[in-house]
Amino acid sequence: MSNAKVDRREEIEELARRRGFLWQAFEIYGGVAGFYDYGPLGALLKRRIEAEWRRFYGIGEGFYEIEATTIGPRDVFKASGHLKSFSDMAVVCKDCKTFFRMDEAIDIDKRCPECGGELVDAGEFNLMFQTKIGVPKGESEQNNSTGYLRPETAQGIFIDFPRLLRFNRDKLPLGVIQIGKAYRNEISPRKSIIRLREFTMAEAEVFVDPGEKNKHPGFETVKEKVLRLVPAEGAQEEKSLEQAVKSGIIANQYLGYHVARVGEFLEGIGIPGDRLRFRQHRKDEMAHYARDCWDAEFFSNRYSWMEIVGVADRGDYDLSVHASFSNTDMCVHDGPEKIIPHVIEPSFGIDRIVYALLESSLYKEQVGKQKRKVLGFKNEIAPIKAAVFPLLNRDGLKEKAVEVFQALRDEAILVEYDDSGSIGRRYRRQDEIGTPYCITIDYDTLEDGTVTIRERDTMKQVRVPVAEIKEFIA
Ligand code: AMP
Repeated sequence: MSNAKVDRREEIEELARRRGFLWQAFEIYGGVAGFYDYGPLGALLKRRIEAEWRRFYGIGEGFYEIEATTIGPRDVFKASGHLKSFSDMAVVCKDCKTFFRMDEAIDIDKRCPECGGELVDAGEFNLMFQTKIGVPKGESEQNNSTGYLRPETAQGIFIDFPRLLRFNRDKLPLGVIQIGKAYRNEISPRKSIIRLREFTMAEAEVFVDPGEKNKHPGFETVKEKVLRLVPAEGAQEEKSLEQAVKSGIIANQYLGYHVARVGEFLEGIGIPGDRLRFRQHRKDEMAHYARDCWDAEFFSNRYSWMEIVGVADRGDYDLSVHASFSNTDMCVHDGPEKIIPHVIEPSFGIDRIVYALLESSLYKEQVGKQKRKVLGFKNEIAPIKAAVFPLLNRDGLKEKAVEVFQALRDEAILVEYDDSGSIGRRYRRQDEIGTPYCITIDYDTLEDGTVTIRERDTMKQVRVPVAEIKEFIA
């Protein structure tokens, strides 16, 4: 595939806006930082990524999916530690009073990027959105009615753990997944869909007997996979998963297995392996609940290395705090033995994956006198599977094209119909939204029942009988 260098800075966001992938939310009211809407093609793309994720973890790993609430009472987040510890350090500009995250201020050399003013320490900001549940009955009820929008989907799974365990007939290991919205009142979101205040997470919580963390039943199947690792201490290195666990760079088989599987998932949906690495958190950046964490990072031409998935070893932190705050037994009983399971958690940010896919899929090339821009999505995640064109709008070609279009829809294939402008223009349009196949109905179709199918990346054209289109594009 030719991959002429694209100025990906403005181009991705411009294309995403123009073609209906991503729109600034509340645009007609001036927009609000950190909120984006998915347009029709963006919503399709996102759903396809989520469907692949469900297939991977739900079917592939056999994890159960649940759907917990997105609002929780104060007690939950007091127990989980989010009330106390889920905060970012901020700085503020002395002149224009704009706030920034402290770690971003280091990137910008401690000068305000808005006005050049001096930045000074502004303390800690808790990132949770607060709300009221019902109507407080008086001053003393204020705290009881305080609720929060969840900052991660995970807590819903921890709280349901006793029921989930029973559902799994009291056995470990047990994997539970959830896809849904999470909310973080980020201090200064300025990076497209990379840092949002409302975003979609896909999380798996894998509960395991702490004594079994070095015996993952699937380890053999992934141990040879070579990973690009950046340990908290030491330089980047490439190691097989087996070597990484043996040498202690990755602490145990369960964590290692899930790091490797995250890599497989990301490459499987089309993120290039040479733009991925796994970086271990330093002690000072670890979340309050984590004892170890490896981020899958994507190399963005615009934002440099950025976290798209976090794989954390949460130990017994969450189950222990909820057991103690709610006075509930969260143990697994194995004969006389009581075990508090440990949790390994791959936590995916779907919006960042959407961004990574848009950026890494876009390429531009010269074809004759024309340039074309292409989103080279894999077939599985392309929003539209195929487009159907009549060569001309006369002599029965249009009617035949509509018939083929309808037949494909009847097969539950998402196809588009387009009869406006030259065929070349119609191809360009589909290339830009990543449609893998264009099907043209011409005079030969009326004679011998075959169509021309043009493949997006190679631009090769083949003739295929109408009855075989479905099989061809599958
Ligand atoms: P964390 O719980 O902070 O490790 O976040 C898990 C994943 O959620 C990250 O790897 C990101 O992909 C995603 N994520 C976290 N914060 C945001 C945000 N503000 N906007 C979009 N995605 C986010």
